[in-house]
Amino acid sequence: MNSLNSSDNIQKFEARINDLESLIEISKSLSSNLHYSSVLDSILLTCMGRARVLKAGLFIKPDINSHEFTLYRNYEGFDADRKIKYSITEDSELIDTFKKNPQCYTMPELLGAVENIVDLKAFTILEPTLMIPLINRADLQGVIVLGERIINEPFEEDEKDFLINVAGMAAIAIDNSFLFEVSTTDMMTKLKLKHVLYQTMKQNFNPELPPISILMMDIDHFKNLNDTYGHAFGDIVLIKVASILINSLRLEDLASRYGGEEFVIVLKKMTVDDAQLVAERIRQRIESLEFKYTEKGKNEIVKTTISIGIARYNSGLDSVPEDLIKRADAALYEAKESGRNRIGIAK
Ligand code: GH3
Ligand code: MG
Ligand code: MG
Repeated sequence: MNSLNSSDNIQKFEARINDLESLIEISKSLSSNLHYSSVLDSILLTCMGRARVLKAGLFIKPDINSHEFTLYRNYEGFDADRKIKYSITEDSELIDTFKKNPQCYTMPELLGAVENIVDLKAFTILEPTLMIPLINRADLQGVIVLGERIINEPFEEDEKDFLINVAGMAAIAIDNSFLFEVSTTDMMTKLKLKHVLYQTMKQNFNPELPPISILMMDIDHFKNLNDTYGHAFGDIVLIKVASILINSLRLEDLASRYGGEEFVIVLKKMTVDDAQLVAERIRQRIESLEFKYTEKGKNEIVKTTISIGIARYNSGLDSVPEDLIKRADAALYEAKESGRNRIGIAK
């Protein structure tokens, strides 16, 4: 009897050590990643693996000013209707319950803990098996929702303990990646900030590496557009133009906001001809945009254009990023002088 107990105990200790080892691995992998969306993806995959579920989702605040938690777009496996907005408001009883009592909840447990079941609607339609709050610095960062299990068994206590530990680390990782995002991104346009541009350029100022090309851009007659249609309308144009830049690039490239309506793109490993093709595609996409202006009883279609200067890193000419910027700026100036809505190439 005794020997059975001790072998049982050894098994339990081994499982515990296993869990701790996995937690260390998960912690390393989460803290080495600062990209918000890949942190979220890796949290979901980790939970799916450990909890042996076919479905997992994450309720999270979509942006810094948001007052509600919504189902993150990359949820796995849930048969959710993409047209429905699954959301929970920040000041609901449900969110309070998670904050006051941060533990794993099954649906019946949550139904017992929350009086206002209307709050639970966003969860109930997903038919979850377990919900785990993500708490960091006494604040709720989000909620992990697990679906159907591979084996049809209730969660064991040690599985719940493990998941609550993962959730704690996940909450810190989300917080860190969020702070990183905020400190490197222009929140209005979602473009990278100037200091990120300079850092990327510096890293690539190395004659041993394939040379980068930069595209320096400035919206044409933007002052005019602001004066005619107002600053708020100008902002809408700016945001749309920025989204065209972001969507015209590969993952390894960088789109930054250099100034008000000036942008710099860094293209890695590209010939000047290829950089010119990218610039031309961007120029055309922006030229074909149409903005509806319906204020003050008007109904106008507003158009805009952009001028672009291209320069390629040349170790003989460019010792610091400012040198390459200066050459791209001169090419941009030429594009402006020769009529705007065109591309200039640095000598
Ligand atoms: P050009 O074709 O020579 O570039 O003419 P321009 O009128 O665009 O001249 P410039 O580039 O000097 O004008 C920049 C204008 O961009 C002036 C400023 O009010 C506006 N601007 C800068 N930042 C913002 C912003 O965040 N929102 C809005 N709406 N306007 C901005
Ligand atoms: Mg300008
Ligand atoms: Mg301009």
